[in-house]
Amino acid sequence: MREYDFELRLAALLERDGLPTGPEAGILARQLGTSVTGAGERILDLVAVSPGPDFDTRLDLAAETIPPLVVESDLGVGTARSVTQSIDAPPAAARRVAERAAEVGFLELSREQGRLVGRQAARYPDWFDELVGIENKPDLGTPGDLASQLRRDVSLQVLDRVILATASHVTRAHRHRIPDPVGIWRVDPEEPEIEVVREAKSLEPNRPSFEIRAEHPGQFDVAFAGTAQKARQRRRIAERAYGKGWRTYELPACANARATSVAGTDGLPGCAWADRLVEPAAECGVDCPGYEAGAAPEADRTAERARRTPWRPDPAGPARRQSFLDRF
Ligand code: SF4
Repeated sequence: MREYDFELRLAALLERDGLPTGPEAGILARQLGTSVTGAGERILDLVAVSPGPDFDTRLDLAAETIPPLVVESDLGVGTARSVTQSIDAPPAAARRVAERAAEVGFLELSREQGRLVGRQAARYPDWFDELVGIENKPDLGTPGDLASQLRRDVSLQVLDRVILATASHVTRAHRHRIPDPVGIWRVDPEEPEIEVVREAKSLEPNRPSFEIRAEHPGQFDVAFAGTAQKARQRRRIAERAYGKGWRTYELPACANARATSVAGTDGLPGCAWADRLVEPAAECGVDCPGYEAGAAPEADRTAERARRTPWRPDPAGPARRQSFLDRF
């Protein structure tokens, strides 16, 4: 089975049933970077974010990702401060990020003596708890650099738990090659359903660790990852997951495209010619041998996410946002 097809089916299943062990998956997203000391060096296939104490506050705040640089900035809820002096970025980038944060309703911007100043419209909430990473490898017969990727996750420990999901029969040899703390799920993607072959062990995201940057025979290049860096990256992962979700596809304009249902969710990118879910951005277009001109099937991904998850597409924040932007 193709990895993309497997991944969407598993996401649909987890969204319906939650994780088979562990906390509620409040937010689920695909393809998120987890590297603390590098940029985008490790991308997890799926990340489940469980709700924290102020989850409802986050639901009311914004449907989109709140720019992490603004959350990490010196801009608070009290006195408005200079955007360029408070956000850790070059001035033009700081202004862009601040304007984006205003668009999503998190910042209130104004001008004081020609300077762009801002303050938070609401205090950033403590909204998430566990982050669980899921690496998908439907066929363990072609593992690629799977073991190396999982070693990185287990060494870095920025997530609370890491799980390998596969459609293959998991042999003793496979289990030995997968780092011990990594849980293993055998997934029947057709039903779909999950058998927990091995439970994941809890990692230690609140302690310093080392990020593996490169592996050589008998040697690792590592970088130190401190607790503050890890906490910041965890918030970034959670925020990106919140804004992104997992329905990141557009159904293709092709007569063979089908809006397909899996595990109770509708509008997945199916294909009658390929007889499976397809990855439109990578597979569809006039170069595909099965392509036939036609209209894209109707599917409302936003409505479907809202119907199936706690995420709110139109939270309480935008009314204030609109009136503020009008003023600005
Ligand atoms: S372009 Fe190809 S893969 Fe995409 S829906 Fe059409 S036939 Fe299927």
